[in-house]
Formats: sequence, C-alpha cells, structure tokens
Amino acid sequence: MVRRAGTRSRHAGRPQGRAERRPPEAAPESASKPGTGRVRLEMARLEMARLEMARLGGRRARVVAREFREGALTAYRTDRDRPDLDGTSRLSAALKYGEIHPRTLLADLGRDQAPGAGASTFVTELAWREFYADVLWHHPRSAWHDLRPLPGMDYDEPGVAFDAWRAGRTGYPFVDAGMRQLAATGWMHNRVRMVTASFLVKHLHVWWPHGARHFMAQLCDGDLASNSHGWQWVAGTGTDAAPYFRVFNPVAQGHRFDPRGDYVRRWVPELGHLTGAAAHEPWAHTTGYAGGYPTRIVEHAAARAEALRRYAVSRTAAARGGEPTGVRPRIARSRNRAALGPE
Ligand SMILES: Cc1cc2nc3c(=O)[nH]c(=O)nc-3n(C[C@H](O)[C@H](O)[C@H](O)COP(=O)(O)OP(=O)(O)OC[C@H]3O[C@@H](n4cnc5c(N)ncnc54)[C@H](O)[C@@H]3O)c2cc1C
Repeated sequence: MVRRAGTRSRHAGRPQGRAERRPPEAAPESASKPGTGRVRLEMARLEMARLEMARLGGRRARVVAREFREGALTAYRTDRDRPDLDGTSRLSAALKYGEIHPRTLLADLGRDQAPGAGASTFVTELAWREFYADVLWHHPRSAWHDLRPLPGMDYDEPGVAFDAWRAGRTGYPFVDAGMRQLAATGWMHNRVRMVTASFLVKHLHVWWPHGARHFMAQLCDGDLASNSHGWQWVAGTGTDAAPYFRVFNPVAQGHRFDPRGDYVRRWVPELGHLTGAAAHEPWAHTTGYAGGYPTRIVEHAAARAEALRRYAVSRTAAARGGEPTGVRPRIARSRNRAALGPE
C-alpha cells in the first residue's frame, strides 16, 4: 500500500502572531501570482468558459425542466442518489446562469394537483441552493474559510495524493469515477460530489478549500455558495454540517448507490472487464488490476482512524477554550480572519 505524501500543518486555533494558513487562490493554476486584479481576471475568464460549456439557453432549459417533470421527477426521491441512473434534473448550470428561475420551477410544480414525494424532495433541494446563497450573502468570508472552524485541527498540505485525487487515480473506483466524470464533462452527480469531497478531507486530510477550488475550476455549474457550503457540509465546518466523525466509506457508498457497478465502468475503463459490483473492489479479484487500474493510495480503516484522531484533538482544544464548535457562526471573530482568499 502506498502511503500518501504531504506535510502536515495546522490552520485553526493558531496562536496570534504566527503565520496563518491561507486558502488556495480560487483561480486556475495559470494564475501563478495571487495578485487580486489578476485573480479577478482569471475568475472572470473561468466564468466565461463555464458559461460557454454550460449554455442551454432559456428555451432549452424550459424543455429540460418539462421533460424532468414528466419523467424522472416521480422517482426523484430514491433515484436522485443513484449516479448510474439519469435521476436528477441536470438543471444546475441553467439555474446558475439564470436561464431558468427557481420560481419558474416551483410555479410549474404548483400547477400539479397531486404533487408526489419526488416533487417535495425536489423543492427541498432547490431550497438548499437558496439557503446557501443567503448564508454566503451574510457571511462572505465563508466562501474560502470555515464558517465554524474546528479549533486546532491538523490538515496536510496538498501533495501527490491530492494530485491523484484530482486525476481520478486514488485506487477507489467510486471516487475515481466521479473525478473522471468531472474532468470529462464538467459535471458530477451530487452523491459522488459528497463522496469525493469527503475522501479528500477525511481520507487525505486536506483542508476543503483546496478541493473547492478544483471543483470551481472544473464544474459547469460552479457556484461559490453551493460549492463552498457543499464542501463545508462534508468537512463539518458549515451550517448544517454532517458531523466530522461521519466518514463515508467510499467502497460501501459505491455498492449502495451504484449497485451494478455501471457508473464505475462508464468512467473507469481499466475496470471494464469486471462484471457487476466487482468493479467496486478490484483488489478482491485475481484479474482486478489486469486493466492497469492503480492500487489504493491510502487504506480506508487507517485513514478513517487518523481523521477521528485529529477530530478528537480538535474537540480537546475546543474544550480548553479554542474557538467553540457547534454554536452559531462567529466568523467576525475567527482566528482565520487574516487568511483571506480572493473574495
Ligand atoms: C462538495 C459539493 C459541491 C457542490 N458544488 C455545487 C456547485 O458548484 N454548484 C451547484 O449548483 N451545486 C453544487 N453542489 C450541489 C449539487 O451537487 C448540485 O446542485 C447537483 O448535483 C446538480 O445536479 P442537478 O441539477 O441534476 O440536481 P437536482 O438533484 O436536479 O437538483 C435541482 C437543483 O437543486 C439545487 N441543489 C440540489 N442539491 C443541492 C445541494 N446539495 N446544495 C445546493 N443546491 C442544490 C441545484 O440548483 C440543482 O440544480 C455541490 C454539492 C457538493 C456536495
């Protein structure tokens, strides 16, 4: 088993006067100098490229919405978690660029005399988008900083493991399928966004803004509020955060949400020779690596134990008077306030 490389550093709860951890520049790698003007220019260029990639047009967006309403919406509550199915609306980019308004979607749903479970779940998801926009409006620094910092939390600097994650070569099929879908199409299924983000933060112990920056550079629906707060939900530093100690098992998630392995095989051709759910565990089959798929860069149980150990240290720091967790956000007083990104 190859161990990941990377040096550890601490970003919260640091005594005053010592160097603070800085979030990555929210611009593509080509922006080598973090000058504000240059970063803004790069962000604008990125937005234009994303718009070009995402462009549905208002008329087409309404057709997509209608087809979704008349089709996948019925089973949306269950199918929305299955990346192997076409179970979601795929309207995120159109919503992001105003090609369709959430109120239009709600009004269309409202005309239905007997909206089912799918419709009410869909409304909830639209509400998450609005909620995150509101949180970002009130807490603009949460774009690139923890809304609720975990005091004394140790993170690793992004190194070769981070590169493997970005390239979809972690050796965990469900994670790699997601990262490759993102690279190939500029979109990734929500369930897989959660699992890939969790893998970076809790298996590779990298601070979430590094991953958020990569997502923003790749996603056709890249949206500062939904992205940064989606990441913070995963990292346990956001509003309604998943508890930090809940660590997704990327193999179990694959089996549960891609039960036949179809999604993995679609995006990871090196596993194409493994039938059914075998694609989720090449290490369990004698020919598993025959297609040249990489071995796992970290071992799940050990990585999980390390994440929990770091969390326990942070809890102790909180108990000793570090920045409190589990209370209403106190961004203005955050010790990270000096570490501003290109907002
Ligand atoms: C780490 C991470 C990063 C994310 N980054 C983005 C992003 O940059 N841009 C973005 O639009 N969404 C983001 N999301 C939310 C979600 O993954 C996408 O909105 C969804 O996958 C888009 O596909 P869809 O349009 O088919 O969604 P559907 O399931 O059809 O949902 C309908 C709409 O509801 C909204 N929505 C659904 N789920 C969420 C959610 N969890 N949070 C906020 N809004 C939601 C979106 O506008 C979406 O288009 C992120 C989620 C995570 C976990």
